Amino acid sequence: MSNTDILNPAEIYPWLQEHWAFFLQRLEQDRLAHAVMIEGPAACGKLVLARAMVARLLCREDQAQACGLCRSCNLIAGGAHPDYFELQPEEDSEVIKVDQVRALIGKLDLTTSISERKVAYIHPAENMNAASANALLKSLEEPTGNTVLILVSNHPGRLPVTIRSRCQTISVSQPDIQLVHEWLENTTGKAEDEIIAAVQAAGGSPLRAARYLDSPELEAYAQVRQGLATLLGRPGSVSLVSSQLNVLNPADLWRWLSMCTGDVIKSVMAGLPLNWLPVNVKLHDKALLKLQRQADINRQLSTTSVRGDLLLQDWLIRWAEQII
Ligand SMILES: [Zn+2]
Repeated sequence: MSNTDILNPAEIYPWLQEHWAFFLQRLEQDRLAHAVMIEGPAACGKLVLARAMVARLLCREDQAQACGLCRSCNLIAGGAHPDYFELQPEEDSEVIKVDQVRALIGKLDLTTSISERKVAYIHPAENMNAASANALLKSLEEPTGNTVLILVSNHPGRLPVTIRSRCQTISVSQPDIQLVHEWLENTTGKAEDEIIAAVQAAGGSPLRAARYLDSPELEAYAQVRQGLATLLGRPGSVSLVSSQLNVLNPADLWRWLSMCTGDVIKSVMAGLPLNWLPVNVKLHDKALLKLQRQADINRQLSTTSVRGDLLLQDWLIRWAEQII
């Protein structure tokens, strides 16, 4: 965390304005809960918001945003603040383990070192297993001292209701597409057509679109659409297209396959052609819905030991059969 990105998140990401204002207001009125849950889709700035909150809560200057200059701010930027704790899955694991939660609670019980309060940051909160969530719940039920827990989650629905109900929620949603375009224009200076392509490939997600602007992902996305168009009515090309697409990052690939299928479903329903599909093609919308669901499932499976090449081939064969 650097000093520059911990001050005012709304200056960096304008769509966070209301969330930041809500937090400041609660803090000022002394109505900030002991636990705050920042929830919403990935790549919308939740972590920057969380970091700014951490910095503000620990900064020793009393002003609207962290000063970025005091001892506390410098220690946070250096990753060594004694009153600040991060809880994330350890390197070899996806899960936030119960021992980690217990160790955190132990630290929160101690008195503060240099700031007025202790702050813990838990991300991704949904990666706590049942035992971890249970251990944390005890701390949520009986908060000790002046502590604030900031939980960040892309999938809050996976957390027990008992945890969620004890958190003040700050819900960050994907910003309006027009705002994403404006933000990218102002911050990157890229050409409009590049921005449009990046936002499309990112499914409207602002930070993902920004990342795509300077990366080969844009071309990869075009390749996915090209592959899908090629296959319609030509199942013989499955092996070729499959080998071309199998080299892509599986998370991106399955998200794009799901997104493209979703676009086709919308176009079938609206009776409007898509610019990347042959205009005379008609597709079964029910079968497409199934395919989209399967792409989402495969995205989860692609992080397991299941063979990705086989999943892809199977999915593409079913896609190729969709032509009426
Ligand atoms: Zn400060």
